[in-house]
Amino acid sequence: MSEEELKGFSEKIGDIKQKVYSFPECGCLIGAEVCSFCTPGRRDPSLICLVSSPKDVFAIEETRAYKGLYHVVGALLSPLEGRTPDQLKIEKLKTRCAALSPREIIIALDSTLEGDATSLYLREQLESLGFITTRLAFGLPMGSSLDFVDFGTLEKALTGRQRF
Ligand SMILES: [Zn+2]
Repeated sequence: MSEEELKGFSEKIGDIKQKVYSFPECGCLIGAEVCSFCTPGRRDPSLICLVSSPKDVFAIEETRAYKGLYHVVGALLSPLEGRTPDQLKIEKLKTRCAALSPREIIIALDSTLEGDATSLYLREQLESLGFITTRLAFGLPMGSSLDFVDFGTLEKALTGRQRF
């Protein structure tokens, strides 16, 4: 990089904090007045996808398979690290769901101990209000052969099998 390019690059990095922020309603990272992922009219408001971090929104968008809204829950429960349900901003989520009355809430959290505990907690909270929740399927990675897949993934794929 030339000195000029390097200067421009460092200025842009320095601007990130001012220009990119988390949208108050959904928690998505944006650089404009409204969240482009949750713009009314462009997305299906009857679906809400719950993710733990704004970066997961970009990963799901890459698939081009989802057209609903997002909601960033912010953290995964971890009693050992002191992350308890009050850090999930559950009331904000419940208020948003009550306003949108989605037909389905997709829980798309990490497939880890913390992710599973958080998913169960969110399901309990949302189903007690009458919402239908689903979660991402577990299965074989694309292009993998069975003998290279770990035992846990293979077990999940077997128990979660679907009719052809
Ligand atoms: Zn949004």
